[in-house]
Amino acid sequence: MIVRKSKVEIEKMRRAGQVVADVHKELRDVLKPGMSTLDLDRLAEARVRKAGAIPTFKGYHAGKTTAFPATLCVSINEEVVHGIPSATRILKEGDIIAIDCGATLDGFVGDSAQTLIVGKTTDEIRLLVERTRESLYRGIAQCFPDNRIGDIGHAVESFAKSFGYGVVEDYCGHGVGKRLHEEPQVPNYGLPGTGKRLKSGWAIAIEPMVNLGTKDTIELDDEWTVITADRKPSAHWEHSIAITDDGPMILTSRGDDPPGPWARSSFAMV
Ligand code: MG
Ligand code: MG
Repeated sequence: MIVRKSKVEIEKMRRAGQVVADVHKELRDVLKPGMSTLDLDRLAEARVRKAGAIPTFKGYHAGKTTAFPATLCVSINEEVVHGIPSATRILKEGDIIAIDCGATLDGFVGDSAQTLIVGKTTDEIRLLVERTRESLYRGIAQCFPDNRIGDIGHAVESFAKSFGYGVVEDYCGHGVGKRLHEEPQVPNYGLPGTGKRLKSGWAIAIEPMVNLGTKDTIELDDEWTVITADRKPSAHWEHSIAITDDGPMILTSRGDDPPGPWARSSFAMV
């Protein structure tokens, strides 16, 4: 069942989303070579808790034998998603770091990811990161009532594939609300005009995972970390958005969105 959110609930989700946005802004500002991925996680957890929120990922089971132990998923280079922060994973110049954060505030979840470059990297990898971000916004731009789930996936996939990238199909976006993962699933591929019709009041997380090489992935023995099958780099960007009558409202916006049809009016000011 797809839960439609009231205006009051969407405003609560926006507040949760802004906690996540603040975490991402802080990490973007402090990231430098020599930090460990656990350093990032500690900063993130402190900021989430200071805002009166709860780290959504910490203790998340997803049917696995071990719960996820941290506030962030931090996935370096060939890691696609779900990397576990560690004191022994040290960031170095040229790494790309996909940071995913979830926060629950007043019973509602915000979920967002960004991929940051440590210092400088090659043009090839920088473009992968930038184009994956653009594929996210192309997906978000489809989020008007009466468009369809397939329109979102098609927008993401057609843009990313035009550069020869592999678009991950093993993991996808999702509804978000009182729970981190709700219906519907939001794949990063699809055919235009297919799938469920989008409705005002839906909240979904769109999260393209785009690889320099093959789309295929492997889950490591830690049960969480996902890597590319060919060990080539991968980028991941995500926003939680609400579908309003005026179009997509980006609940986890960091205030640096490119120009686009993002709704800013009625829902935000309830
Ligand atoms: Mg996420
Ligand atoms: Mg997500």
